[in-house]
Amino acid sequence: MTTLSHEDWKARANALGIRGQAFIDGRFVDAQSGRTFDSVNPATGAVLAQVAEGDAADIDLAVAAAQRAFDDGRWSRKPPAARKAVLLKLADLIRANLHEMALLDSLDMGKTITDAVTIDAPGSAHFFQWYAEAIDKIYDEVAPTGPGDLALVRRVPLGVVGAVVPWNFPLDMATWKASAALAAGNSVVLKPAEQSPLSALRLAELAAEAGVPDGVFNVVPGFGATAGKALGLHMNVDCLAFTGSTAVGKLFMQYSGQSNMKAVWPETGGKSPNIVFADCEDLDAAADMAAFGVFFNQGEVCSANTRLYVERPIMEAFLEKLVARAKAMQPGDPLDPSSKMGAIVDARQLDRIMGFIQGGQRSARLVTGGTRVQIDGKGHFVQPTIFADVAQTDPLAREEIFGPVLSVIAFDTEEEAITMANDSPYGLAASVWTGNLGRALRMSDRLHVGTVSVNTVDALSAQTPFGGMKQSGFGRDLSLHALEKYTALKTVWMKYRA
Ligand code: NAD
Repeated sequence: MTTLSHEDWKARANALGIRGQAFIDGRFVDAQSGRTFDSVNPATGAVLAQVAEGDAADIDLAVAAAQRAFDDGRWSRKPPAARKAVLLKLADLIRANLHEMALLDSLDMGKTITDAVTIDAPGSAHFFQWYAEAIDKIYDEVAPTGPGDLALVRRVPLGVVGAVVPWNFPLDMATWKASAALAAGNSVVLKPAEQSPLSALRLAELAAEAGVPDGVFNVVPGFGATAGKALGLHMNVDCLAFTGSTAVGKLFMQYSGQSNMKAVWPETGGKSPNIVFADCEDLDAAADMAAFGVFFNQGEVCSANTRLYVERPIMEAFLEKLVARAKAMQPGDPLDPSSKMGAIVDARQLDRIMGFIQGGQRSARLVTGGTRVQIDGKGHFVQPTIFADVAQTDPLAREEIFGPVLSVIAFDTEEEAITMANDSPYGLAASVWTGNLGRALRMSDRLHVGTVSVNTVDALSAQTPFGGMKQSGFGRDLSLHALEKYTALKTVWMKYRA
């Protein structure tokens, strides 16, 4: 909860000055074409800002600025401790502007202000601080070559990092890429999702205020098929860090092959299983977290626990607990601090979710929810929805819906639970609830996913890598491991008289 009231948040939202221009080479600029697109609040339909519609011409300018900055060393050759000082200041500035950053995300894509101000915006400050503090504590290697030779194995920044991110955590997805890439000494050109460009633009402005030099952090808003593709195909982009759908992640791998073989790091979709055994020691906690795991952020979470496997003897009792929690999470005005769920990002996503719900009403048992709602006659909202008796082959159990829809499936044995959980093109995350340590470890061995959470859901922190297996992609954000994708190994040999 926040200490501000609904009325306070509405007043602050009305008073916001929103910038929609691109941020290139240290300043706000219009798109070269002069075109703009509307940024729309999905909770009300109101237009928040006219946003510069960047395309290949703007990406060219931004990449050129980023490359100039990288080549002259204004950031790339600064001592790590100097980059650290600037990024710590950026973390402080995000904290000083926490309400504004939270409001931009809440208004732009519909998440609740409570989540934005307690999770997303503080998270952004924390991740910048974490990489700032880490970067002057990492040592390179000396190879064991013997007398007469000195071989250094150094980690060096790559150059220009392109980052393309989705709309579900606009500030945090931008931060996950930019914090590690900038700490490592790269220049960055970020393309935010067209549904949610506002917080990334403000972030770039704050970065400049903190002392990130001109050209080092550029943000070009625009559409995927134009600006995103131009970044993916650019000959002077050295690395492309992508978070978004699996289909677009595959496109970025093609763009790389069609251009300069840039490294591509896709972090893509998910359909995460959550497995509850009858020997779970706290079924109330499991039900709390199962509901959170699928309805948090309106279900628009890549690692959302959207497939719930429950051991048959506890199925009906567990469902009852779950329904009670779903009913308590009805959507409301995102700016009302008491709202547990906000608005769906746009009409297209709403239609997609409702399409799955309509299909599910024919193929499975609707236990609760299933209806689109409006708040004060406006906006795109969907009730928390639970289907039981879902077949493993049903689209409800196979496809990433990216909305507040849970599919519940019964199982009889551990082996069956593992087989069904792994039966998915995705492998981002999984959760297991059990009081049996051996079973927890066996399950974590055999679940083919990037993160297994035992007796919780979706565990995540700056200290641990986040990313997937199979068609959830192979990029990793967070932790020191994320620095690997933004650096290259350089070997330096020196001869001396031994
Ligand atoms: P999306 O793939 O449609 O868009 C993501 C980004 O790619 C946007 O910036 C978009 O403009 C750009 N894009 C779209 N088409 C493009 C094209 N043809 N060429 C180049 N760029 C293009 O995804 P979305 O709808 O914004 O986000 C939802 C998806 O993101 C879900 O699949 C979700 O699982 C995934 N996601 C994954 C993670 C993770 O860490 N694995 C985290 C959050 C979201």
